[in-house]
Amino acid sequence: MKNRIEMLRELCNRLREMGLEEREATAEARYMLTFLLKVPLSELYLWGNELLSAECEQKLQEILQRRKKGEPLAYILGERYFMGLPFKVKPGILIPRQETELLCEQAIETIQKEHLERVLDLCTGSGCIAVSIAKFSEASVWAADISETAVEMTRENARRQNVSLQIIQSDLFLNVQNKYDMITANPPYIDDESYAGLEYGVRNYEPALALQGGPDGLEFYRRIAAQAPEYLRPGGYLIQEIGYNQGEAVRKLLSEHGFSEIEIRQDYAGLDRIVWARWPY
Ligand code: GLN
Repeated sequence: MKNRIEMLRELCNRLREMGLEEREATAEARYMLTFLLKVPLSELYLWGNELLSAECEQKLQEILQRRKKGEPLAYILGERYFMGLPFKVKPGILIPRQETELLCEQAIETIQKEHLERVLDLCTGSGCIAVSIAKFSEASVWAADISETAVEMTRENARRQNVSLQIIQSDLFLNVQNKYDMITANPPYIDDESYAGLEYGVRNYEPALALQGGPDGLEFYRRIAAQAPEYLRPGGYLIQEIGYNQGEAVRKLLSEHGFSEIEIRQDYAGLDRIVWARWPY
């Protein structure tokens, strides 16, 4: 039998052997243990000498086996934290990415500062952006996704966070009505060539539908730039996540369709990650 600290060390070593970087391995090992023990991280250390049950050790071995085959931890545990909130995820749903939190933070800041009332999140997936905005602002939030799995998962995540969302199954704007003060989107944006080079866990486990943005990766930005004007009130915001090399192409698309105040913003790694634009007054 091992105690908590010993197990943390073993999990880390095993994950390192699977090729994870130290930071990642540490984060995953902590997540596995706190998830199974249902305790906050501080208690892992505070009660570090507590022995683990045989059942818990068994479960950890099973998780490691699946992880070793390349399955992402979020699918194994069925959960991923985003904006400090636990989101349910499962195969068929893109796992929320940390870099997307930045889009959320900036959107929420603007909603609060300008008292925006109506927000639409396209390609919502797990609902992580829509639910976070609803949770941390006063805005009414609509969430749309083409996938039925995404619609169900968003409903469940909204319920879990006790926020009320209007959830629409829709191919982009197809079933969307009315006008919004802000539209957010993290659409699929991986081009064909990059898709083939994605890491194994992403390519083999995560939904291609949520990743592939057509041959050049820009398909959804084209459609959104063309259609969004009809759904934005004058002065309304369009905020989209982009791939690190898509900034200029998306800027051009938006400007061709009449958007103003177009701004490319970087993530914490210094890479282009978000494009802001406004529909003119
Ligand atoms: N950022 C994701 C990745 O690296 C892609 C997300 C998307 O296509 N919207 O896999």
